[in-house]
Amino acid sequence: MMIKKCLFILCLSLITIAAFSQQQPFKISIQHLTGNCYLFISYGLANGAPFPANGVYVVTNDGVVVIDTPWGEDETQQLIDSVYRRHHKKIILSISTHFHADRTGGIDVFKKASVKTYSSQQTLALCKKSGNKQAAYTFTNDTTFNIGGTTIQTYYPGEGHTKDNIVVWLPKQKVLVGGCLVKSTETENIGNVADANVAQWPQTIKNVMVKYPGAKYIIPGHQGWASLNSLKHTLEVIKSAGN
Ligand SMILES: [Zn+2]
Repeated sequence: MMIKKCLFILCLSLITIAAFSQQQPFKISIQHLTGNCYLFISYGLANGAPFPANGVYVVTNDGVVVIDTPWGEDETQQLIDSVYRRHHKKIILSISTHFHADRTGGIDVFKKASVKTYSSQQTLALCKKSGNKQAAYTFTNDTTFNIGGTTIQTYYPGEGHTKDNIVVWLPKQKVLVGGCLVKSTETENIGNVADANVAQWPQTIKNVMVKYPGAKYIIPGHQGWASLNSLKHTLEVIKSAGN
């Protein structure tokens, strides 16, 4: 038990060191998740310090679909180049899960690369209002994309981290991209709640739990995804933040 705890602290320290050793321009990293799904980490500044953000991409027969853009524009170009080098395929479509820059920051770079950039209508409205990058295409209701043999579904579970946060579900791979609605089990910090609905957030998480009981991977917006307890953990983090 003690060894596990020590290892956990060691891992956390290494992640922190990795984050702080990041200098601008930040360098993205990519890891294989499962099947045709990959996870990428980009960085942005949070309270003046580099902070990692998670995004996911799926390699389909027709090209690559990205869930959430990297945080920065330079990092988005890195993702375009890395994906092409690794898979010899172009990124063809992106879906941003809410309006903040850690999900939308690369939209203009994607547009220049002929990527079809998507968000919900609600996210687009908030991007306009806050001066964030805006997707070219929108959906109003929960939407299923069938692209090159891969099914990708969006679901709006209610307000939480922001009013507009959606999750993305890959039914075949059983990957749930939770975005910033979901907190990693590596943090006890509720994070940026400037645009949050903390009162509604628990019910929104419960909606996600009921909808995707069979998720094999749950990817939070930031930090580690090894644990499948992140939804339950998010409820605990919100509860502690309210005390
Ligand atoms: Zn975030």
